[in-house]
Amino acid sequence: MSGGVDLHSHTTASDGALAPRELVRLAARHRVRVLAVTDHDSTDGLPEALQEATVHGIEIVPGLEINCDVPGSEIHVLGYYVDWRAEWFQDFLRAQRAERAARVHRIVERLTELGLPLTAEEVFAICKEGSPGRPHVAQAMIKRGYVKSVREAFDRWLHANGPANVPRRRLTPVEAVAVIRRAGGVPVFAHPGLADRDAIIPELVEAGLAGIETFYPEHSAAQIQAYRQTCRRLGLVATGGSDYHGPHTGRATTLGSPHVPLEVWEDLKRKAHELKSTHEPANRTRQSDEHTRGPREPDSPPPITGYPRP
Ligand code: AMP
Ligand code: ZN
Ligand code: FE
Ligand code: FE
Repeated sequence: MSGGVDLHSHTTASDGALAPRELVRLAARHRVRVLAVTDHDSTDGLPEALQEATVHGIEIVPGLEINCDVPGSEIHVLGYYVDWRAEWFQDFLRAQRAERAARVHRIVERLTELGLPLTAEEVFAICKEGSPGRPHVAQAMIKRGYVKSVREAFDRWLHANGPANVPRRRLTPVEAVAVIRRAGGVPVFAHPGLADRDAIIPELVEAGLAGIETFYPEHSAAQIQAYRQTCRRLGLVATGGSDYHGPHTGRATTLGSPHVPLEVWEDLKRKAHELKSTHEPANRTRQSDEHTRGPREPDSPPPITGYPRP
């Protein structure tokens, strides 16, 4: 098979600018042959992407991205080939999005206190049915004339240590990895170069991490080498993708770039197969669920703990 591989992209189901259908059409124009759709806490873009992909002969890898806070930074966890249609998993994603909406309320309160009055309704009008997040807050801030760009909104107010950022109340990175494994998926540490928390890798591997996003627009050649080596050493898949969000989203990446070798997709599929063959479906209770906080009831969402916060 010729054509590119891109294992990280977003649609209007989260904070991307393109509808799933438009994203897949763009992928076709960019000669991307394997595209993972990895919206934040949502798989709602997948049915439309899968449908459009058949027209273009594109292979869609079902995925998602879960953003977690850690002191002073953020850890994003990608999940590939999850059993996304499982009812408990959709319940889990709905709970994630409910906390995203609650966080938007907390962020606009903070902004208002800081002298930038904003309402949650203005933010929700932008993200519509999608998974709300700070990029939508940033766009509402542009509309109000507080900032000129999404980038400026993040740089001045919304970044991890920014004055208007408020922490999430769900899921540690270890829990994010565990929930993806429980859904039969392949958990991957997204863009670790941005997180600057490589020390967490052993703990995530212990929790079931199966890959590290190695090929990434903002990773240097040295970082790519280092993560490839880490992956080889730990038996992880070195994945990669553009993290494409579409135009005017404050992120100037190109779909299908950087180049990701086709073998990466083959490694990912092999890993998914390997994990699924040893995987016990999440709707069964077992003794060891005690420490991984697995579901107690058939088809029930896994209990989620919040962060210990001051
Ligand atoms: P949230 O969903 O609230 O965690 O917001 C995370 C998203 O914000 C990321 O997936 C990026 O799309 C976007 N983002 C993070 N940092 C920046 C930045 N400096 N400029 C533009 N967008 C950013
Ligand atoms: Zn995003
Ligand atoms: Fe991310
Ligand atoms: Fe992303």
